[in-house]
Amino acid sequence: MKLVSVVVPCYNEQEVLPMFYEEITKVTGQMMRDFPELTFEYLFINDGSKDTTLEILRSLALKDERVRYISFSRNFGKESGMYAGLENAKGDYVVVMDADLQHPPAFLPEMYSYVRNGEYDCATTRRVSRKGESKVRSWFARKFYKIMNKISQTEIVDGAQDFRFMSRQMVDAILDMSEYNRFSKGIFSWVGFNTKYIEYENVERPAGTSSWSFWGLFKYSLEGIMAFSTAPLAISSLLGIISCITAFILMIITVIKTIAFGEDVAGYPTTICVIFLLSGLQLFCTGILGQYLSKTYLETKNRPIYISKETAESYREKQKERSSESSGENASSEK
Ligand code: UDP
Ligand code: MG
Repeated sequence: MKLVSVVVPCYNEQEVLPMFYEEITKVTGQMMRDFPELTFEYLFINDGSKDTTLEILRSLALKDERVRYISFSRNFGKESGMYAGLENAKGDYVVVMDADLQHPPAFLPEMYSYVRNGEYDCATTRRVSRKGESKVRSWFARKFYKIMNKISQTEIVDGAQDFRFMSRQMVDAILDMSEYNRFSKGIFSWVGFNTKYIEYENVERPAGTSSWSFWGLFKYSLEGIMAFSTAPLAISSLLGIISCITAFILMIITVIKTIAFGEDVAGYPTTICVIFLLSGLQLFCTGILGQYLSKTYLETKNRPIYISKETAESYREKQKERSSESSGENASSEK
C-alpha cells in the first residue's frame, strides 16, 4: 500500500474549506478505485486563521479519521505552513495544494500517473495564462521571472506553482533545506529531481479572497531574489567601479583643462555633485549589504519555522478524555 499525504495550508478559508473537502474526497475516492494501491491522509495547516477555519477542521477531524491538522500559534505565512506540512506528512507521496480550489484536485490522477512508475519524482502544474489577474500584476510577475532567471543559477519556471505531487525522496531533500527565509519556488527547483510540468489555464477562486496584496507579493519576490541570488551584491561592486572610473575621468579632464587651457575650476557645483553622487551610491550599496546581513542574522538565530498549538491528534485525545470524564460523572451521579 502507498500512502499519499495531501498537505493544505489554510489561512482564513472558512468559505472554501467545506467545498474543498468535498471536492478532494471525491477525487481521492475515485483514485482509490482506479489505483487500489493508494490510501490518503489530509493534513491541513491552520496558519493562525482569524475566522472559523479551525472549528471546521476540528469537526472534519472528528468525522473523518484521515483528516489531520496542525494549528499554528499565530500566522506564520504560507511558506511555514508548507514546511510544517511536509515535515509532518507520513506519506510515500506528498501533495501540496491550496485550499481555494485554484489548484484543481481533478489534476491529481494525471499527476500520479507521472510519478507512479518512478519516471518523474515530481509532477506540477504551470499556468499558461494569468486570466482573472490584473494587468499590472501579471506584468510585474513576468518581469520578476525574467530578472530572477537572469541573475540566479536556480531556474524558476514562469507560471510554476506550489501545486505539487512529490515522491518521498524529493520531500526529504526539501526538508533538509531548513532555512528560515523560505522561497519554495526556488527550493523546489534547487533540489533538482525530474519534474513534469502540466500546463493549464488559471482558475479563479470560487469564494473568499486572496490574502496576497501587491506589496506583499513584491516583498516576497525580493525575498526570492535574495534567497537564490547574490547578484545584487555584485551590482554594488559594479556601481562602485563605475563611479571610480567616472571620478578618475573627471579628474583627468579637470587637470588637462587647467594645465592646457588655463581655465578656472568651478569648485562649488562640481564638489556638490560629486558628494551627492558618491554618498548616494554608498548608501545604496550599504543598503544591499544590510539586506543580506539581516537575512543572515535571522538565519543564525535558528528560530523555528513554525510553532504548533494544536493538532488533530491532540484534539481527538482531548475529546476522548472529555467524553470519558462525562460518562464517568454520569455513572457516579446515577449511584
Ligand atoms: N495561505 C497561508 N498563509 C498565509 C497566506 C495564505 O497558509 O499567510 C494559504 C491560503 O489559505 C491558500 C494558499 O496559501 O490555501 C494560497 O493563498 P491565496 O489563495 O491567498 O494566494 P493566491 O492564490 O492569490 O496566490
Ligand atoms: Mg489562491
